[in-house]
Amino acid sequence: MADKRDYYEVLGINKDASEDDIKKAFRKMAKKYHPDLNPGDKEAEAKFKEVNEAYEVLSDKEKRARYDQFGHAGVDPNFGAGGAGGSPFGQDIDLGDIFNSFFGGFGGFGGRRSANPNAPVRGTDVETTIYISFEEAAKGAKKQVNYNHITTCDECNGTGAQKGTSPKTCPTCGGSGHVTINQRTPFGVVQTSRVCDTCKGKGRVVDNPCKKCGGNGRVKRNGTVDVTIPAGINEGQILNVAGRGNSGTNGGPAGDLHVYINVRPHPIFERRGDDVWCEIPITFAQAALGAEITVPTIDGKIKYSVHEGTQPNDIFKLKGKGIPHLGGRGRGDQYVKVTIEVPKNLTNAQRELIKKLDNSTGEKNYARRKGFFEKIKRMFEEN
Ligand SMILES: [Zn+2]
Ligand SMILES: [Zn+2]
Repeated sequence: MADKRDYYEVLGINKDASEDDIKKAFRKMAKKYHPDLNPGDKEAEAKFKEVNEAYEVLSDKEKRARYDQFGHAGVDPNFGAGGAGGSPFGQDIDLGDIFNSFFGGFGGFGGRRSANPNAPVRGTDVETTIYISFEEAAKGAKKQVNYNHITTCDECNGTGAQKGTSPKTCPTCGGSGHVTINQRTPFGVVQTSRVCDTCKGKGRVVDNPCKKCGGNGRVKRNGTVDVTIPAGINEGQILNVAGRGNSGTNGGPAGDLHVYINVRPHPIFERRGDDVWCEIPITFAQAALGAEITVPTIDGKIKYSVHEGTQPNDIFKLKGKGIPHLGGRGRGDQYVKVTIEVPKNLTNAQRELIKKLDNSTGEKNYARRKGFFEKIKRMFEEN
């Protein structure tokens, strides 16, 4: 881990870079090292992986904050994994839930616990984030998602009692979880009810706590689940996986897992709604004469004929070549903006050819220039 490069350095940005700066830097770097654009180049492939890793951390507010504070260790997926007690970076676990499971919900303070300490309570939901590529969002994918959640301890089956023993009814409160106190005051006897100190409101006590969970009955664990990403999903959408959250107590159902979708920017394509946009540079001659060019689409390369006299920034549309509408029929379109690259580093012979061409063309070849100069002429006549 020591030889890992600084993520800011990898993307070539400053520590105070904005979210937008990070996205732009990623697009630039991904374009430079993308395997499709550097076939067979092992070094580019490694760089591409490094760039992706840096982006996954720096584009996530929470991970970036941990990285800023703790460096690479703070965002290592294996850091603090496994076992109860957990990591100080256990991002997916709601602290309230840990307290609830340790101390039985604080009785009267939390207000969540019903009068019956043994009533089933549904587990809380947990959240995790996955990163998918532009293509996976467009076409759908199957992904394995890793996350942390709290589950029933399998050693004691959630009772909190060491194997071979079982919890017994609390002798102080008789199993109700709370005790009634009669207080003598100048106004008479006042009766108050509070959480039982002996069992912390659980109604049961464990003499020999389970070694695995410390008597808590629940343990923090890494979970994996296979999810199907539907084609057309977009950045910021959430997949809900029912019953994969924290497990419930007293036989209550488990909460859900919310999977936040993060889509990595593509080096060539840009998504606008369900449409795909890209820019293709063509030569001056291709624009002037018309040409068959190769256009990348999310389905692969296709041939397209640009017409004679194509102008810079002309846009053509490929109907139905965009991203499938999520959960519906049909697809968006692809828009291709043509840019024209002017040749540089010309030899003398090439210069002569262009001069010859320029000398042989006139007003009838340049409609826009003609119109422009006519406007200038009129402007000075009016004054
Ligand atoms: Zn246990
Ligand atoms: Zn008690």
